[in-house]
Amino acid sequence: MTRRLQTLETHCRALAECRMCGYAPHVKPILSHATNPRVMIVGQAPGKVEVEGGKPFAGRAGRTLFRWLERAGIDEEGARRSIYIAAITRCFPGPSPSGRGDRVPSPAEQDACAVWLDAELRIIRPKLLIPVGRLAITRFLPQRPLDELIGRRHVVEHAGGRCDAIPLPHPSGASSWIHQGDHPQLLDRALRLIAKELRDLGLTQRRSVA
Ligand code: SF4
Repeated sequence: MTRRLQTLETHCRALAECRMCGYAPHVKPILSHATNPRVMIVGQAPGKVEVEGGKPFAGRAGRTLFRWLERAGIDEEGARRSIYIAAITRCFPGPSPSGRGDRVPSPAEQDACAVWLDAELRIIRPKLLIPVGRLAITRFLPQRPLDELIGRRHVVEHAGGRCDAIPLPHPSGASSWIHQGDHPQLLDRALRLIAKELRDLGLTQRRSVA
């Protein structure tokens, strides 16, 4: 095992023990189990179903995300193995006070959890970053309308250096962005860009259909 993978394993063991935000005892950080990743997905935060399933993107939003990735040429098993799935915060923040969806992690929770994300960026030094949803997108890209950001490749600076970023909209049913105007075409374009990156990194064998 390389030093980088040993460092990532040590990092994940420490992350699993994090209780900085003081959630209920059953709410624990949700970890990626990717081995030797060179690509990172960064989502918003896990939901209740992820707490129960113990893995990131385990519910309905995950099924949509993995369907999208399948269109980019990589199936769920391959994606979970080769793509490190991180998030802005790693513990389920609880339901939204409005009753619709999950609570958006507070700025204090986002700041607290940023140490883990920055450490992962330094360890993995990803070749490609895929921020998923507005909160993750604005962590790396300027605050602009999603239709000016999705469907394009960007170069971003982060704690681990500089790399390409191809953002995706949030796949949860709570977001209506994906169904409006030319947004399905922007998603297709983003998936084609991701497909090319994954091919160039040798992570896909077959031609994508995006
Ligand atoms: S959200 Fe992040 S910082 Fe807060 S307890 Fe969970 S892992 Fe730790």
